Amino acid sequence: MCGIIGYVGKEKKAQKVLINGLEKLKRRGYDSAGIAIIVDDKVKITKASGKINNLVNILEKDEASLGIGHTRWATHGDPSEINSHPHKQGKITIVHNGIIENYIELKEELITKGYKFNSETDTEIAAALLDKLYNETNDMNKTLVEFQKQVEGAYALGIIVDDDYETLYTIKNNSALIIGINNDENYIASEMTAFNEYTNRCIILNDGEFAKITTNNIQCFDKDGYEIEKDIMTFEKNVDDNNKGIYEHFMLKEIYQQPDIFKKLTDFYIDMNDNFDLLSEKMPDFSKYNKIVIAACGSAMHAGLIGKSLIEKYAKIPVEVEIASEFRYKDTQFIDDKSLVIAISQSGETADTLEAVKIAKQHNSDTLGIINVPNSNIALNVDNVLYTEAGTENAVATTKAYLAQISLLALITLSIMNNNNNITNEEKKEILTAFRELPEQMEILLNETYRAQYKEIAKSIYEQDRVFYIGRGIDNYLGMEGSLKLKEIAIINSQAYAAGELKHGTIALIDQGTPVIAIVNNERTIKKTLSNVKETFSKGANVYLITNEKLKNSNKDYYTIEIPHTIELLQSILTIIPLQLIAYETAFLKGTDIDQPKNLAKTVTVE
Ligand code: GLU
Repeated sequence: MCGIIGYVGKEKKAQKVLINGLEKLKRRGYDSAGIAIIVDDKVKITKASGKINNLVNILEKDEASLGIGHTRWATHGDPSEINSHPHKQGKITIVHNGIIENYIELKEELITKGYKFNSETDTEIAAALLDKLYNETNDMNKTLVEFQKQVEGAYALGIIVDDDYETLYTIKNNSALIIGINNDENYIASEMTAFNEYTNRCIILNDGEFAKITTNNIQCFDKDGYEIEKDIMTFEKNVDDNNKGIYEHFMLKEIYQQPDIFKKLTDFYIDMNDNFDLLSEKMPDFSKYNKIVIAACGSAMHAGLIGKSLIEKYAKIPVEVEIASEFRYKDTQFIDDKSLVIAISQSGETADTLEAVKIAKQHNSDTLGIINVPNSNIALNVDNVLYTEAGTENAVATTKAYLAQISLLALITLSIMNNNNNITNEEKKEILTAFRELPEQMEILLNETYRAQYKEIAKSIYEQDRVFYIGRGIDNYLGMEGSLKLKEIAIINSQAYAAGELKHGTIALIDQGTPVIAIVNNERTIKKTLSNVKETFSKGANVYLITNEKLKNSNKDYYTIEIPHTIELLQSILTIIPLQLIAYETAFLKGTDIDQPKNLAKTVTVE
């Protein structure tokens, strides 16, 4: 969470680069923003609570060639101006991404040394500790080596030292930090997006490493302070535009990009003529695993549940889905060298998911990442990575990256089936046709007629204080994702339930007019699920049914959205679209901040 950016160079005006970078990073946190630049041989700090515009409005026209900036997702202390970064103590000014876990002990000790603190943040403690160590050694190299020994937790820091306004320092542990390299200028940032319009060359620091950066020089050091050679990586320049185009919100634009994303992904993995041989070539070999564990958080975890259903049913490997923050602290993880741990994360930086990967390695399990952001922390830590190729997702609540995750999980399933010779020629034909037709079927769900139906549902739920989603199997998992979207962007309390489970208590919450969104796609269980739907209707629920055209439902009591039918492997990719758009239209009517919803951040780098 939070985004940091730093600049040192002769080529550009630091203030402009910092603000530009913060704009790109704002989905990582938007509680407050601030910058520190060197003006008239002094550190000048400007910060403001709220969005970056509040900062831009109070900035003066300053010229500087070195500076650091921060957009915050508050963990310690409210999102006030005083808690905003940068923080300065003595000769040290810093921006910080992460959490200093032993900040209370450090604070007590620093107070005895005469330090006074203005903010409630853990970050200000880190600044004071750096200042104390620097005063003792007069050497930043020694200071940073010692700092790491004394500090517990996660941090990526951008550091300015008063004695040398031509140098930027940076250090990282369990938070992302990338150094951008260009002629006569260098950058630091939480992710490449912040500077990739200027350069595509970078150095990625590992945990424990730190760097001393000037206009023309970058020196990197290991945790003991020895200088190390780092590879310079070149990445593709970001081709994804950062504007909303014709759409009112990034989220809407990203929902509309989904048919293209699905097509691009399947074109990469499947040669429509060669019966999945290409797919198997590009996928890792799954044959040696007798168990798969999917570790993920939030929407990625919901995607994992769909993966579990598909892999277990079609590829016959047992799959457990673990919330990464739970998995990492379990007393026993039942994995070994015959297990595969799949880490799913849009950002590739999710702290808990990264930790799950590390735990998998301790158990000698292989690891596979399903990741959207190239060269991100998790992508660099797993044995194999499959990129979701969804492009930059600007809206904080995920849509297209989630859809790419479930698409990739369907492709993984297909690859295992193919390698096991589990598919007849007849089935191959059917599957290929389904893959071919899917983008067009997705487009249907985005057309005006369907949009009008989502808007109808939104009209009747946007003023409600609770909404239920019910379904069985994959439909339940889709309900979980639909419900999360509604919570995230429309700020409505909603819950998803396995259809048969509702009556075991929660049905007490169904009153006259309570909205129940029922997802019914499974032919085998349709009768059972419709009985559960009827139960809620009998208690007064307003029922909205999402079902596919093959399962025609003639019950006039329910408002029904009939979606196109496809093979089970792909049905969820269609079904999620109405659920995303119902949440969107509801939030729109409610007038909430759709792209940057309350309390959220896109990249969850804290535990
Ligand atoms: N822990 C720091 C704070 O609360 C940084 C949080 C972040 O990484 O966004 O200010």
